[in-house]
Amino acid sequence: MFDKILIANRGEIALRILRACKELGIATVAVHSTADADAMHVKLADECVCIGPPKPADSYLNIPSIVAACEITNAEAVHPGYGFLSENARFAEILEEHKITFIGPTSEHIRTMGDKIQAKETAVELGIPVVPGSEGAITSLDQAEEIAEEIGYPILVKAAAGGGGRGMKVAETHGDLASALSTARAESKSSFGDDTLYMEKYLSLPRHIEVQVIGDGQGNAAHLGERDCSLQRRHQKVWEEAPSPALNDDERNSIGDTVARAMQKMKYRGAGTVEFLYEGGEFYFIEMNTRLQVEHPVTEMITGIDLVIEQIRIASGAPLSFTQEEVRFEGHAIECRINAEHPTTFMPSPGKISQFHAPGGLGVRVDSGAYAGYTIPPYYDSLIGKLIVHARTRNECLMRLKRTLSEFVIEGIDTTIPLFSQLITEPDIVNGSYDIHWLENYLKKH
Ligand code: ADP
Repeated sequence: MFDKILIANRGEIALRILRACKELGIATVAVHSTADADAMHVKLADECVCIGPPKPADSYLNIPSIVAACEITNAEAVHPGYGFLSENARFAEILEEHKITFIGPTSEHIRTMGDKIQAKETAVELGIPVVPGSEGAITSLDQAEEIAEEIGYPILVKAAAGGGGRGMKVAETHGDLASALSTARAESKSSFGDDTLYMEKYLSLPRHIEVQVIGDGQGNAAHLGERDCSLQRRHQKVWEEAPSPALNDDERNSIGDTVARAMQKMKYRGAGTVEFLYEGGEFYFIEMNTRLQVEHPVTEMITGIDLVIEQIRIASGAPLSFTQEEVRFEGHAIECRINAEHPTTFMPSPGKISQFHAPGGLGVRVDSGAYAGYTIPPYYDSLIGKLIVHARTRNECLMRLKRTLSEFVIEGIDTTIPLFSQLITEPDIVNGSYDIHWLENYLKKH
């Protein structure tokens, strides 16, 4: 096992990783930008190193600074969290070249899954169902038109290098295709420096359902059930729950087993998420994330498995500590992402938190680095914490969520807590009947 781990991230996820290290008796190194000197994970870490100015490119994405911080502190491994360098295959390679362990998959797996066209091809080879679409990249308008006729409109044009919903355009009819291609190409070029595009059938009312997996790189892999992340705004998840209210046990076991078998076949190492759209009783693969996800706590709550501890054990060379048969699913969990944003306009609201009181009690978990007196810097994404509740049934979970939201006090800034207090009174949410467009439609009306 490692003696010391460097946490190459910030905010709630840096704190989350630090907690796992502490429980394992591993010393921690926090790295931070000048804007994050007062962050909770920096205060709680055994050592800290300032790696640059506020701009992410100069600090949290600055590979030489992070490698130097490992060398100065003798850290043996790096946990990248999510975002920043977590899916950067070159970063994983550079660490390996410096004999530092990257807590995550092989650089080869990161690279394959990071290219959406290759990821889809790999999914097909592994027996995972995919959305009907182009085989490989689109090279001309003629070719695009031909494929679109075959799969039928509406069509979604997507960027091979895509992420965060950018570089995606819908063509409702034949007449829209040329402009969808050129807009997606321009957006993809400017966001990702790559304009490779592919096409998929546009599913009109799907749910977003993703399967959590973990493997040890030695051929052992298990799934930890699914999460339903259909409540999204601008392709960003807002509320996540497990299990999905839309699936029956046969569907859940079948997709879980398909994904676990695929991960065994590829000898996947570490935690990962295979994302699907689900419509009309069918699952369609959209992408695989080769890292820990923001919403991993809902899975931890229903399985009792600490995913970060498991990631660290696996990175140190240990085999998976449980078998598929040993995974037990208990009750229901819901996560609300608390952002420092106005609850109706979604304008970012950085600044000083004057009062902070987190809810507590049975089945309540708050992952947040925020505290009274903390100033949220304006340079990073607006997620300041996650409220996760767990109960025996979905109904009890909703009752608990309502109680905890009313207990949560964050003053001095705007947060999205009032949005969740509204959402839990909506009959569609109470019934679990929502698709990926539900929240956008709701926000237009309210
Ligand atoms: P990104 O990496 O940019 O997040 P994804 O492929 O994961 O891209 O898709 C993000 C979101 O876009 C999905 O959660 C879903 O809401 C929507 N989406 C993606 N593919 C399709 C599709 N074929 N049909 C309908 N919606 C889609």
